[in-house]
Amino acid sequence: MSEELNPFKIAQAQFDEAAEFLGLEPAMREVLRWPRREYQFTIPVKMDDGSTKVFHGYRVQHNDARGPAKGGIRWHPAETIDTVRALAAWMTWKTAVVDIPLGGSKGGVTCNPKEFSEGEKERLARGWMRAIARELGEHRDSPAPDVYTNPQIMAWMMDEFETIVGRNHPAVITGKPIPIGGSQGRGDATARGGIYTVREACKILGIDPHGTYAIQGFGNAGQFAALLHQEVLGGGKLVGVSDSRGGIYVEGGMDPKAIVKHKLETGTVLGFPGATQITNEELLELNVDILYPAALENQITKDNAPRIKATISCELANGPTTPEADVILHEKGIHVIPDFLANAGGVTVSYFEQVQGTYNYYWPLEEVRKQLDARMTAAYHAVYKMHSEKKVHMRLAAYLVSVARVAEAVKLRGWV
Ligand code: NAD
Repeated sequence: MSEELNPFKIAQAQFDEAAEFLGLEPAMREVLRWPRREYQFTIPVKMDDGSTKVFHGYRVQHNDARGPAKGGIRWHPAETIDTVRALAAWMTWKTAVVDIPLGGSKGGVTCNPKEFSEGEKERLARGWMRAIARELGEHRDSPAPDVYTNPQIMAWMMDEFETIVGRNHPAVITGKPIPIGGSQGRGDATARGGIYTVREACKILGIDPHGTYAIQGFGNAGQFAALLHQEVLGGGKLVGVSDSRGGIYVEGGMDPKAIVKHKLETGTVLGFPGATQITNEELLELNVDILYPAALENQITKDNAPRIKATISCELANGPTTPEADVILHEKGIHVIPDFLANAGGVTVSYFEQVQGTYNYYWPLEEVRKQLDARMTAAYHAVYKMHSEKKVHMRLAAYLVSVARVAEAVKLRGWV
């Protein structure tokens, strides 16, 4: 039978396993396996050639029992309501695992932003915000960047929201540029948070963090992981990186700064001097100590999982490993730091950004990093403790921590 690759069905199956383990009552399961609210809308955009294109936009609020919903906006040609639902659910578990008082949501637009001019991007950003503004706000639901959206897009969206409500309102959206209410340390927070969890895993498992590492996906999360792995862990040899066009391998290791510069200058990691070209599949199967999947969903499946050789897989991407692959990696003894734990640094600093924006007082970078480190370290250890006590794989352990926290909030509110 072919493997289930619908991200929402995968998210529900992961949840069901945790719900069963925790013995949740049927009504609680039904509340938590579905989004509370979801919106689908059309966004007409005037294109540079004078035509009007109509895009399909989404916002899904999965759960807000622990606090207002929070989640990024993805612009991608393969975006569907089911990817948004899955990502919204994972946001609920993510905010819970790092124990911040927020729920989970996600948004998106089905589009190919690589084809847009800056003006077209701005009109799409403002159109998305106009369509859904009434359902947003820091006490309801606040967006942030995700794949192919960035601080500039957040700036346009915030400006549109403020124009609609007629007042300053920076906390409606996070991941903004620093001069208009962004937080210090938000740019690299996702990767930095992941690397803090790798540091803790290496300590517990007795692994030398200065070995080899490889990164699939070379955008915000992947590029910062390349740089910060060495900065935070004090060493390590980056032997492989990839993006949507393919991958490269350098046996002796490459300088992370040089490959980031090359990507920024040429738009791809391919063609890096001295590197051998490899496929994305080969990148995942490299014999490295630490693998960072930092691209998209369903990259490690039952088909390639038996060939994964890394000691630790730190999932900066959301949903990179399918449930069947999870079991295979677990049996092979690969230590998976699951996505909604590994990449929770982004939403953690987004939460700090919201707090700062709300009281209009901004923290120094050291304070942001210190608080991020404390949250990520505590979250990793809570999940590891569950993993060793209950003898379950790390993803299920993370679900057990998060689902129990959200279920407790649902119960206290009297919903079930
Ligand atoms: P991004 O748009 O900055 O970068 C995405 C990168 O992935 C690009 O380099 C692209 O070329 C590459 N890519 C796309 N398809 C690929 C494929 N099939 N194989 C290999 N590479 C491919 O996005 P990002 O913000 O870095 O997000 C990457 C992942 O991290 C996503 O799963 C996202 O949901 C997750 N994430 C990001 C954040 C954040 O704060 N940026 C937070 C949490 C999770």
